[in-house]
Amino acid sequence: MTNNKLHMTIQDTIFGKIIRREIPANIVYEDDLALAFTDINPQAPVHILVIPKKPIPKLAEAEPDDQALLGHLLLTAQRVATQAGLTNGYRVVINTGDDGGQTVYHLHLHILGGRHMAWPPG
Ligand code: 5GP
Repeated sequence: MTNNKLHMTIQDTIFGKIIRREIPANIVYEDDLALAFTDINPQAPVHILVIPKKPIPKLAEAEPDDQALLGHLLLTAQRVATQAGLTNGYRVVINTGDDGGQTVYHLHLHILGGRHMAWPPG
């Protein structure tokens, strides 16, 4: 196995397969840097995931060079929420690492809306 292939294997997740269209997803937004699609197990009437195309495993592993990309993901969340008609507000969540409840190790923002969100989260 070449180093490149090893690198891809370690970094790949189900979201990498969605980016490459190897598995289907309901994609609601795409640009050069980001992709947004509906969550397969929605926790609210609107539940959309925004991911970078760059496979950053989790927020804790983002680097200073990712600053512009991280800002772009937040603005993409805003755009997608507006597109989804969430005029009364919404929640943006990033689960990070095991204690954060992260299950897919490709950085993603959850956009949750269409109902009132409780606090604190579980
Ligand atoms: P996490 O728990 O890592 O913060 O969030 C992962 C999210 O990805 C979960 O809400 C889960 O429902 C969603 N998810 C997992 N596999 C798939 C998939 O194959 N397609 C889609 N659209 N969402 C997925």
